[in-house]
Amino acid sequence: MKGQPNKKNSAGDRESLKEKVRKIIRLLKRAYPDAKCSLNHSNAFELLIATILSAQCTDERVNIVTADLFRKYHKPEDYLAVSPRELEKDIRTTGFFRNKTKSIQGTARVLTDSYGGQVPSTMDQLLELPGVARKTANVVLGNAFGVKSGVVVDTHVTRLSRRLGLTSEKQAEKIERDLIEIVPRRDWVIFSHLLIAHGRRVCRARNPACDACVVEKFCPSSFLKTGVMPGS
Ligand code: SF4
Repeated sequence: MKGQPNKKNSAGDRESLKEKVRKIIRLLKRAYPDAKCSLNHSNAFELLIATILSAQCTDERVNIVTADLFRKYHKPEDYLAVSPRELEKDIRTTGFFRNKTKSIQGTARVLTDSYGGQVPSTMDQLLELPGVARKTANVVLGNAFGVKSGVVVDTHVTRLSRRLGLTSEKQAEKIERDLIEIVPRRDWVIFSHLLIAHGRRVCRARNPACDACVVEKFCPSSFLKTGVMPGS
């Protein structure tokens, strides 16, 4: 697709994409001044657990579950003190609860044995935790430690980045690689929150409200330009 980052893009194309992204970010910041991580947490460990639970689950559902979970479990040892069956029951409604239980108890074991019960703050260390992939690590580093390690790519970021012509990739890691090239580093964390807020409220998967979209003039997928509803 024209104007999207790929190996053949010239430096000029890249510069114009960077400029376009800066304008999009400015408009979205104005539209969503309160955009932030929507997983409730009060420390890095709780955010790590909530992010593991958020796989294939809505943040709203995770917040309902963690409201009780974080009252019962405070530190990694607490998750190791119960049977897998008990933890499975506590997180059941987030889906994939057996795998998530394995990830949480495996992570709790590593944190206890290797990090004194604390969450490590580097990408390499986080990626060694069971069930923690790059997206989870980016969420924890960006939102709990203020470390701009990359751009979180979830379903909303994927959809909007593609619709806005910022990437033509489909895989999260490749999309992230494209975004890192064109999003200013200072905005790596907020960029995801802004796209997620816009994706939930306006640029929905089906029937996006292009006629009410603050970044419509920068969007090659707008049905006002193409006559075709994105996602249809
Ligand atoms: S113009 Fe439409 S497709 Fe493009 S970002 Fe806005 S809502 Fe999404």
